[in-house]
Amino acid sequence: MKVNKALTIAGSDSGGGAGIQADLKTFQELGVFGMSALTAVTAQNTKGVQDVYPMSAEAVVAQITSIGEDLAPDAVKTGMLFNAEIIEGVSREIARYKWRNVVIDPVMIAKGGASLLQKEAISSMKEYLIPLSMVITPNIPEAEVLTGLTIKTDQDKKDAARKLHDIGARNVMIKGGHDESGNDATDLLFNGQNFYEFRSKRIQTVNTHGTGCTFSAAITAGLAEGLTVLNAVECAKKFIQAAIEDDLQLGSGHGPTNHWA
Ligand code: PLP
Repeated sequence: MKVNKALTIAGSDSGGGAGIQADLKTFQELGVFGMSALTAVTAQNTKGVQDVYPMSAEAVVAQITSIGEDLAPDAVKTGMLFNAEIIEGVSREIARYKWRNVVIDPVMIAKGGASLLQKEAISSMKEYLIPLSMVITPNIPEAEVLTGLTIKTDQDKKDAARKLHDIGARNVMIKGGHDESGNDATDLLFNGQNFYEFRSKRIQTVNTHGTGCTFSAAITAGLAEGLTVLNAVECAKKFIQAAIEDDLQLGSGHGPTNHWA
């Protein structure tokens, strides 16, 4: 039996809703064999992030090397990377193994406000990691930090997408979930030539913890299975929509966006 393999390079969420846990559950749900390189351990639940314990860059690189030497992934995603040393180590490994199906979720701040990426690391992300990406999946605040633009209108979203493409991302997916101006959540995909809009009805729920992780993991699973970027994004969009509709109420804070069919 042949199974496609996906690697997540991300942080652990002890509460199981986001991070490595969300990624591996999503890979499994979508029929892809999941592997992980842990960048940090967070003490976390649905109420928020209580503590962050980063791994050394050396430990992160060692995990990726072990995988690269034996279990060539069909697609790779990065999530929480926390600091510049980890970003630079991860970028070197991705370049060394010539992994091309790379999805970057530029995780910066958790919903509760905890910092998951040091401010000084943003320039490393732009210089080393983004140019290696097949897809980058920022939400609006992340796209603003990465581009220096203020995003209010559809045209602003397009300008930010172009700028991220210029930095080196082959495909840019700007997620509209943080734009609360209408009844829809509109995501925008730019492949360097065309813009594609994905419009869906906004679902009113607090149970959205890990939405970004789950969405980028679903894109990664699609790429691992050989889908085009456009098809992988379309499938991931359906998957995340169903996961948010599940409205899973666990804990007393933001419940997780886990989904199983
Ligand atoms: N914790 C970890 C380890 C993550 O990777 C992420 C991903 O963005 C989060 C927390 C944030 O989760 P959310 O902002 O959806 O609550």
